[in-house]
Amino acid sequence: MIGFKCQCGQPLYFESTRCDACGSSVGFDPSSLTFKTIKNDQAVSDYQLCSNGTNHGVCNWVTKGKEIGSLCFACKFNRFIPNLSNPRNLWRWGELEKAKKRLFFTLLSQGVPLIDGWQLKKNGLLFDFLEDQRSNDYALEPFVSTGHANGVITINILEAEPVARAAEKAAHQEKHRSLLGHLRHESGHYFWYLMRDNQYLKNQFERLFGSPDIDYDLALESYYENGAQTAWWERYITPYASSHPFEDWAETWSHYLHLIDGLETAAQLGFTEEEGLSQPLGHKLKAWEEISSRLDELNRSLGVTDHYHFSVNELVAEKLGFVKTFIQELQTTDLMRGAGQRLS
Ligand SMILES: [Zn+2]
Ligand SMILES: [Zn+2]
Ligand SMILES: [Zn+2]
Repeated sequence: MIGFKCQCGQPLYFESTRCDACGSSVGFDPSSLTFKTIKNDQAVSDYQLCSNGTNHGVCNWVTKGKEIGSLCFACKFNRFIPNLSNPRNLWRWGELEKAKKRLFFTLLSQGVPLIDGWQLKKNGLLFDFLEDQRSNDYALEPFVSTGHANGVITINILEAEPVARAAEKAAHQEKHRSLLGHLRHESGHYFWYLMRDNQYLKNQFERLFGSPDIDYDLALESYYENGAQTAWWERYITPYASSHPFEDWAETWSHYLHLIDGLETAAQLGFTEEEGLSQPLGHKLKAWEEISSRLDELNRSLGVTDHYHFSVNELVAEKLGFVKTFIQELQTTDLMRGAGQRLS
């Protein structure tokens, strides 16, 4: 995450809606990746707050132009939002939007093409933020699991609840579980789906992650019954990554996004001179390792758990390098022409 500033020079947070110094209303503009001032007189303002911000207070992104009441770029990707007659759902949705905006920021700043499924039926991206009967007796489904299928990322909104998330984390013996982590992971599945016909990527994938044709349901069943592969750390970034090549890919993709976003923020805060984006991956990993161990020490001195739990060996580093290659392929892909089609 880079540092943002108001027009008056005051630093802003990614979630800011107002500048404390000059009192201006502000919002994030995804086309320039900067904050813009929203004038009090909306009729003459070049930017308008997204209607999910105006009506529900869950968005601080802006739309360009004088039209009032439209959704911002990122909110247009929503297909289902939770039932807002339950006030707690408004808060949960707000948490999901914050995480989704962070995901989008990283993807946009990496030049990854993003088109919603309303514009592009076959390969566009949509989000379903759903309840199940664990949080709502009247919900249609007894159990909604977080996942991706055919361009739709589904998140069970219960994941926004810190207690429920901590319970799931403990049940699966995970060391890291967050909304942003979920969204990054699922976006990895989506982008693989998008590039499924790209033979060059498929060959590289198979070499590093294994055959994607291994029976997925059986593999996951075995993972939940027997746990991770023995000595999983020799080949995978997380235990879950050892369940199936697709999960390995999504965990690796997610970790790559953690890495570049974490490094960018660290550079912004003066923790490192490493810019994160321009240097070779090996430099980034080394810089991130140093920062992480310092952050872990800081956390321990405050009596909280380590913030960073991953160790990156050579094979995992090679997989992370493939994510970089994959993103470069994405940057030159024309989504409107079809999955995996390069721009000419
Ligand atoms: Zn200001
Ligand atoms: Zn919005
Ligand atoms: Zn997955």
